[in-house]
Amino acid sequence: MRTLEDVAASLQGYDPQALRADTALEFLHSLVQPVEQSETVPLKAALGRVLAADVVSPIDVPAHDNSAMDGYAFRGELLKAGEALSLDIAGTAFAGKAWSGSVGPTQCLKIMTGAIMPTGLDTVVPQELVALADQRITIPADALRQGDNRRFKGEDLRQGTAALQAGCTLGPAALGLLASLNMAQVPVRRRLRVAFFSTGDEILSLGESAREGAVYDSNRYTLFGLLTRLGAEVLDMGVVRDDPALLEAAFTNAAAQADAIITSGGVSVGEADHTKAVMQKMAGGAGGVAFWKIAMRPGRPMAVGRIGQSMLFGLPGNPVAVMVTFLAFVRPALLQMMGRTPQNTPLLKAHSLEALRKKPGRTEFQRAIVQTGSDGQLQVRTTGQQGSGVLSSMAAANGLLVLHHTQGNVAIGEEVDVLMFDGVI
Ligand code: AMP
Ligand code: MG
Repeated sequence: MRTLEDVAASLQGYDPQALRADTALEFLHSLVQPVEQSETVPLKAALGRVLAADVVSPIDVPAHDNSAMDGYAFRGELLKAGEALSLDIAGTAFAGKAWSGSVGPTQCLKIMTGAIMPTGLDTVVPQELVALADQRITIPADALRQGDNRRFKGEDLRQGTAALQAGCTLGPAALGLLASLNMAQVPVRRRLRVAFFSTGDEILSLGESAREGAVYDSNRYTLFGLLTRLGAEVLDMGVVRDDPALLEAAFTNAAAQADAIITSGGVSVGEADHTKAVMQKMAGGAGGVAFWKIAMRPGRPMAVGRIGQSMLFGLPGNPVAVMVTFLAFVRPALLQMMGRTPQNTPLLKAHSLEALRKKPGRTEFQRAIVQTGSDGQLQVRTTGQQGSGVLSSMAAANGLLVLHHTQGNVAIGEEVDVLMFDGVI
């Protein structure tokens, strides 16, 4: 297991006080490790889980050459350019039953989609193309070529080849694929356990009566949503008062149960609270936790470290900063811990409907609505107030406009990168 110091020393340009967002991501990529354990679950329960071992196809899919159409199977070599072809019907082959008769040299076989192609027949003419009279079909000239409308044995999956690779997330298509291999049980990595709590004396839990200067805890609910969508097992530990003994107890409890601990609040500078000091103590000193100032907006401060065997992600307190730092850093790190093969989240290109002010030298994420314009191209506009505490403009957004580290102002109509929430959260 690599320590924070090892990783820091191996990274070009690592400066915790002014950390580029892409360097922070690289740091985490080098630091975290996938959970080792796996389990076997019934096929339906595997949806959204990470596959723990390669799946090698035990069979050919499909198991036989078969027809892709309802029509008539025949020997394709009989087709002659510029000539119609007439054939007598020898019988009918249905899906699910092998046809046992024989088909003479100038005969064809009526065949249903999915029915096994008898040996020697290699071409299917769809029924709507032929003229039928007295158990005899006529195929018009130049209507098809030899081999048309036949599916080959093993064309989907060949016996002995990899159907799915360990580290993929199992989606609906993968479930179907596994079902086509008769795999009722699937090996998956165990679910990640993630504990989280909010810090700050001004944070109220739901149901508490409002008081001056206090705010209701929204971070635990956005985190609950984000983690649940990732398929993690969540441990909601509530709000922890700004008291060293309570914070220590919370971290101890979380570290005993969880693969990762996520906190919000208390990691920015100049605060009267104890969160940072307790994190440092629990992480076993300065080497166990790094306090970052990331060159990004929103969400500059963030703590990263290990408490016991658990990864620690100390997020800022502002509600939008929590979500953005989660999406930018914590989500990729957790996916890696879940055993997923690392992959970049794809960004789309959209034309900005507004001019945007942007300083080079930091990464900015703006809450945005992306839609298809009347010209069929993607366009994007921001959802108004971009303050890091303004959750309403996050709730109105369907994605984030991503302005990269070196990027400057954006002109109206210019193409920008967007991260869509669909498929991500
Ligand atoms: P901090 O990072 O602790 O300085 O907090 C920054 C801002 O986020 C402050 O205005 C806090 O009141 C607010 N905040 C911190 N935690 C939460 C939370 N769990 N829910 C809503 N707002 C929060
Ligand atoms: Mg605070």
